[in-house]
Amino acid sequence: RKSVVRVTTGSQALDELLGGGIETSAITEAFGEFRSGKTQLAHTLCVSTQDINCGYFLFQLPTSMRGGNGKVAYIDTEGTFRPDRIVPIAERFGMDPGAVLDNIIYARAYTYEHQYNLLLGLAAKMSEEPFRLLIIDSIIALFRVDFSGRGELAERQQRLGQMLSRITKIAEEFNVAVYMTNQVIADPGGGMFVTDPKKPAGGHVLAHAVTVRLMFRKGKGEQRVCKVFDAPNLPEAEAVFQITPGGIAD
Ligand code: ADP
Ligand code: MG
Repeated sequence: RKSVVRVTTGSQALDELLGGGIETSAITEAFGEFRSGKTQLAHTLCVSTQDINCGYFLFQLPTSMRGGNGKVAYIDTEGTFRPDRIVPIAERFGMDPGAVLDNIIYARAYTYEHQYNLLLGLAAKMSEEPFRLLIIDSIIALFRVDFSGRGELAERQQRLGQMLSRITKIAEEFNVAVYMTNQVIADPGGGMFVTDPKKPAGGHVLAHAVTVRLMFRKGKGEQRVCKVFDAPNLPEAEAVFQITPGGIAD
């Protein structure tokens, strides 16, 4: 394995839960209810991964191993990326917002095929320039739209599996940290769709592809709670973090 680095989430409690931050050469997934902070963490990672000396978050690893110091690729399927949000987050990390934004390659995907083609293009780019982070927010949304009919689930899962194996290959080949968000399942009940905040979408195909699976939920006010769901090397513990103007924090 290439030398794995960890990217700080901006919250020391969350980093500790993750064994130091989100890992390169691995896929970290966050699922959970609406407004639980999944996209805000994506924005924070866009900045923190570019920080070569985020010394003040250090508690475990030498400075040289913290922060990815590479480019960021952001695939947005829900239209929720806000470049304006990057500015105060960069300022909080003591970085130049313009320089940080210049290092983020952003693309909006409109169909699952478009999403797949964007990944192919990114893989080509990554062989030319150093990338440290790939964000996919969210992995599942377009599959749910494009395969919404009855009887389409098997094909959806097959296509999802193909996309995920491509993502795994990117993570490992380029030593990139992949952070993807996922939605929760909507169970039809009594003629209405009721979401279950504890059930990630994507079934076994997605469950098997991810390295670390995190469940987010809302706490009091701006507090959020993250629970490690399914990770072979991590205890099933929880961390409390906050969403602040400067991004994810303690
Ligand atoms: P989701 O899990 O649906 O992706 P988000 O990551 O978009 O959720 O989180 C949305 C929440 O983030 C909002 O409800 C708000 O509490 C918080 N938030 C968004 N922007 C800011 C900000 N500038 N300052 C503080 N909190 C913010
Ligand atoms: Mg979101």
